[in-house]
Amino acid sequence: MSDPLFDAAIAGDRRSLARAISRIDDRAEGSLEAVSALVARRVDGPGAPLVLGITGPPGAGKSTFTNRVVTKARSDGLRVAVVAVDPSSPFSGGAILGDRLRMEAHAEDTGVFIRSLSSRGHLGGLSRAAGQVVDLLDAAGFDLVIVETVGVGQSELAVMEVADTVLVVLTPESGDVVQTMKAGLLEVADVFAVNKADRVGAEALARNLEMMVHLDAPADDDGWLIPVCTCSALDGAGVDDVLSSVDRHMSWIQGPGRTAWAKRRAHGRVRTFLDVVSEDARVRARDSLSGSHADLNGKLLDGLNPYVAAAEWMGSQ
Ligand code: GDP
Repeated sequence: MSDPLFDAAIAGDRRSLARAISRIDDRAEGSLEAVSALVARRVDGPGAPLVLGITGPPGAGKSTFTNRVVTKARSDGLRVAVVAVDPSSPFSGGAILGDRLRMEAHAEDTGVFIRSLSSRGHLGGLSRAAGQVVDLLDAAGFDLVIVETVGVGQSELAVMEVADTVLVVLTPESGDVVQTMKAGLLEVADVFAVNKADRVGAEALARNLEMMVHLDAPADDDGWLIPVCTCSALDGAGVDDVLSSVDRHMSWIQGPGRTAWAKRRAHGRVRTFLDVVSEDARVRARDSLSGSHADLNGKLLDGLNPYVAAAEWMGSQ
């Protein structure tokens, strides 16, 4: 079903594009159908536009890095869109202010489009919205879409499902994140960038990551060994190395790595399904404790074993 706003967005009207994205972000009525009417590219495999996911802890230098990618992509003549997702922040206003600041650098450039997605709604909704926005940007003819998320928790990993290539940006201060997120990082990263290489500790972290990568290395020859790069997004040192690793991965997934890419994407769909269902169940259970199962809430407050309560609740579904 075609929708005039989405048609105008695809035809190149930037205001319509911004409004269409707001409709998706608000889960407005009809937006799901409007996006579904577009070609669902990512079901078929990696292709144009390539979607680069950038994730990492707050302050790692993701937006500084993204700006460098945008500048490089523009000098290569690519039209580029940036979708910034902040699942942890309850404020969309802050994100919009951030957009304005970032937009200033590219204000005169119609080949660049930057938008934040708010964190209204739950994780499943957010990753779905990110996927739909990427579909829309694809239909609008962008060559490269960058999806940037703040943080490296479960929700960010879910959002990264939309990306073809995922760059995880860390800094010498990220040691704790690496320890606690080890498995998750290896699951999601296609390229590691240790940013702020101008600071002490970058080399040590890079070596630590390399060791992790080698221990987890794929057995087959076609496997992708996650490159670990060091860079300084602030002054630009090493950024080209990171970008050439990203390019190499993007070529790999369109060639020998296509099967591996599809397999990982398939696992990602299962993970996203489980994430969405468990979050949805949690919301429904919480709501029911103040509604239809208020008696259960009372019993819990009076000391009922939560395992017994959970079994009772699940049995009633
Ligand atoms: P984000 O939260 O991951 O998007 O991080 P930002 O890009 O906003 O960067 C956070 C801070 O780190 C800013 O003050 C940047 O100027 C600074 N920064 C970014 N890259 C570098 C770097 O390579 N070296 C140093 N020393 N600071 C950096």
